[in-house]
Amino acid sequence: MSLALSGIGVSRGVAIGKAHVIMRGSVDVAECSLPDNLIEDEISRFLNAVETARQQLEAIRQRIPKDTRADIAAFIDTHLLMLDDATLVITPVETIRELHCNAEWALKLQRDAVVAVFEQMDDAYLRTRRDDVDHVINRIQRLLLDTGQGEIHIDAGTPENAIVLTDDLTPAETVLLEHQGVIAFATEYGGPLSHTAILARSIQIPAIVGARGIQHYIKEGETLILDGLQGLLIVAPDETTLAYYLEKQKKEQQRSSELATIAEKPAVTLDDIPITLLANIELPDDIEAVSRENASGVGLYRTEFLYMNRSTPPDEEEQYERYMAVIDALKGKPLTIRTLDMGADKEMDSSTLRCSNPALGLRAIRLCLKNLSLFRPQLRAILRASVHGPVRMMIPMLSNMQELRQVLTLLEETRNSLLRNKLAYSPDLKIGCMIEVPAAALSAAEFIRHLDFLSIGTNDLIQYTLAIDRVDDEVNYLYDPLHPAVLKLIKMVIDAGKSAGVPVDMCGEMAGDPRFTRLLLGMGLSEFSMHPSALQEVKQVINSSSITLLTPLVDELLHHTTPDRIPASVDMLNSLN
Ligand code: PEP
Ligand code: MG
Repeated sequence: MSLALSGIGVSRGVAIGKAHVIMRGSVDVAECSLPDNLIEDEISRFLNAVETARQQLEAIRQRIPKDTRADIAAFIDTHLLMLDDATLVITPVETIRELHCNAEWALKLQRDAVVAVFEQMDDAYLRTRRDDVDHVINRIQRLLLDTGQGEIHIDAGTPENAIVLTDDLTPAETVLLEHQGVIAFATEYGGPLSHTAILARSIQIPAIVGARGIQHYIKEGETLILDGLQGLLIVAPDETTLAYYLEKQKKEQQRSSELATIAEKPAVTLDDIPITLLANIELPDDIEAVSRENASGVGLYRTEFLYMNRSTPPDEEEQYERYMAVIDALKGKPLTIRTLDMGADKEMDSSTLRCSNPALGLRAIRLCLKNLSLFRPQLRAILRASVHGPVRMMIPMLSNMQELRQVLTLLEETRNSLLRNKLAYSPDLKIGCMIEVPAAALSAAEFIRHLDFLSIGTNDLIQYTLAIDRVDDEVNYLYDPLHPAVLKLIKMVIDAGKSAGVPVDMCGEMAGDPRFTRLLLGMGLSEFSMHPSALQEVKQVINSSSITLLTPLVDELLHHTTPDRIPASVDMLNSLN
């Protein structure tokens, strides 16, 4: 009898093969108290384990074939760098000395402290970086405990077309799987933004994470279907199911070969309307993806990542250099630098920024206008950088005209002070704001009279329109991009831009979700900014759509469709040939 199990699909594609179950279990650590005379030996034991972990990772790095893309191998470098980090190495040594405890326990205490910091972050990407901490710490723990459960190895006994089922995979193991003939994998743990998930997408191997309980239900060698889009595992499929998935697999393969050829093509609709596709970037790693995915530029550079995980903010010079590096790497493509969106979810220093209702508190532009010593160096750095390439500056979370006037006055003051200091800036720096607050959407026509562009931040716009904390799991079922109120606000902003002849783009997640591409095209959106990995799929939808056909259909949907029918109407748009 066949059985279906589900998890989170993180890398699409259909794999049909045999289960290869590798469960290593969790690393259990007990506390031991050590006498004075054993402390130095314990520290040496710990440092030896760290050194062995480094040698293991370096050996894996050597085994990666030379033609592997640099960004894939870079995931292993991230783990190697963590082994050089004082937080993971020096602090446990101090703990062994202070508490007279065993190395495993000192490392566990440090792991818990670091993970607690990551868990407070409401930025989903940074929160999942705790997986990397766990992967590195587990590697050292396993060496200390001498469990013999090191790297996952695919040996001679492994079934052909193996689908690996395991508790968790490190990025290093994921990279190697590709070269060991494994066709897909599913893990019990891990999230969609983990490096393992990102890697699975990069190397295009179908994958599922968070498939709890797989080890209890699936036996070694059983026939399996893994659907990486639906997050589905089908064990011992019957003939009808198998035939259905063989067909689906064929279509998926066709789709991915089309995607592979689309990167070089421009985004143009069937009725010849060019659409601008931009990238959202956060970390230096993302910049390479901008040119790889052939984005027209950067629609959102989240600068808050320069301020995180450090005790003092970057000064003007450091920021200037970072912006210059991004401008250089973009080779003439436009860069939209968003001013600091810190506070609330993205905390810099929890002691100074904590408030009772963080999402509605002192964040983004509000925080900057209250802390000019934080804001002024950024304005100076952006203005100075604007000499070296096409730069735009974007203000987050603007909610009223007073704030906008304050920012424009500050910019004028900053230009004057740069003149006095004989430092160059570009008079052409374009200034825009994000539309993330319903009040801003309703005021778009007024804002636009003082600005060069608007960018719709749907992540926050949805949160504030529907009064749901975007990081609270209890209410995420209410997070609905298709809510008529959200669609009305988006449409108002696009229309306000059109009437004033001012460009409007969208940089929230909705822009990178191909399910909404046709809807947004029909609403009149012509600039989309998204995570680089989403670009080709969105382009594929654009290149198979006609705006002439979509506009009246979307108009009908917005004005005459009852709210509960909107998702079905959007599906209908997506099924048009
Ligand atoms: C948004 O709110 O849509 C947005 C892009 O900003 P962030 O996700 O960084 O808050
Ligand atoms: Mg936002």
